[in-house]
Amino acid sequence: MASREFSLIDNYFKGKGHQRKDVVLGIGDDCALLSVNDNTLLAVTTDTLVSGVHFLADMDPRAIGHKAVAVNLSDLAAMGADQAWLSLALTLPDANDKWLAEFAGAVIEVCDYYGVTLVGGDTTRGPLSVTITAQGKIPAGKQLTRSGAKPGDWLYVTGSLGDAGLGLALLQGREEASSDHREYLINRHCYPTPRLLAGQALRGVASSAIDISDGLASDLGHILKASHCGANLFLDKLPLSQALLGTVSLEAAWHYALGAGDDYELLFTVPEAQKGALDTALAHCGVKHSCVGQLRGGEGISYLNHGQTVDLNVCGYEHNWS
Ligand code: ADP
Ligand code: MG
Repeated sequence: MASREFSLIDNYFKGKGHQRKDVVLGIGDDCALLSVNDNTLLAVTTDTLVSGVHFLADMDPRAIGHKAVAVNLSDLAAMGADQAWLSLALTLPDANDKWLAEFAGAVIEVCDYYGVTLVGGDTTRGPLSVTITAQGKIPAGKQLTRSGAKPGDWLYVTGSLGDAGLGLALLQGREEASSDHREYLINRHCYPTPRLLAGQALRGVASSAIDISDGLASDLGHILKASHCGANLFLDKLPLSQALLGTVSLEAAWHYALGAGDDYELLFTVPEAQKGALDTALAHCGVKHSCVGQLRGGEGISYLNHGQTVDLNVCGYEHNWS
């Protein structure tokens, strides 16, 4: 989410009204954390996908169903939560059986894969939009938040970056790729993988975490702001897929990796003393991870390529409010 939207939330919603004592973490992170008992936190997140804004109007209904669930589970992953329940609020322009069968099939398939149960929702008529609330559990004190990073901590990402942004550009006809790269990149856009096992493995290892929904630069900005740090980002260490590098120039690939959203990889920080534990924890769940930078004092992001400063102007995804 972009800066204009954050000031809107801060102005009208954040910290307003009665504040219950069992709210461990309210507005401002990937999930809210609610104290259920002394041992367990409930993690809760809601994300909406609107036709024409978050997905192309003619997108495959299976991809819409998959993506709607995956982006919510990704927010649970970013807190280190164990996924448990979903609610689905669906607004439909009409009741099209084929569309619904494919959409619902994908929703249920992702739920089955991750052991999540759909427990409720709402169905209304109107312009197509999908809102999901996901809930999960975390042992109290083990949550990953955006605010725990310290200068000196190392910055990591899972998977590879920029593929989903290029996949969208291919769907929109803004770029062209060979047919095998095209299929991979479009799949990365339509069928993101929530990094749940990785998020859970990072409990007690990472000092902060967020999922990359708006681009690395924008989402790193949230960690830096919440943790009162700056960061050096190593462009030569960015994990870029063969498909991305085989389709666009290196500089364009950096921009897709840093500025285009929808990757749903995890971005997290690890203190020097935990680096060994990190490699062991993520090797157990088979998730690739790359060290892409280091936190420092001050603020903002400095971009370095093989140690040389690079002047980059990266823009994350921003809704148009004007
Ligand atoms: P994410 O990208 O991880 O889903 P967002 O950037 O969408 O998170 O939202 C940032 C924070 O603002 C989250 O804590 C979210 O719950 C909160 N938020 C967003 N919209 C509203 C709203 N209308 N009312 C209250 N809280 C909101
Ligand atoms: Mg998030």
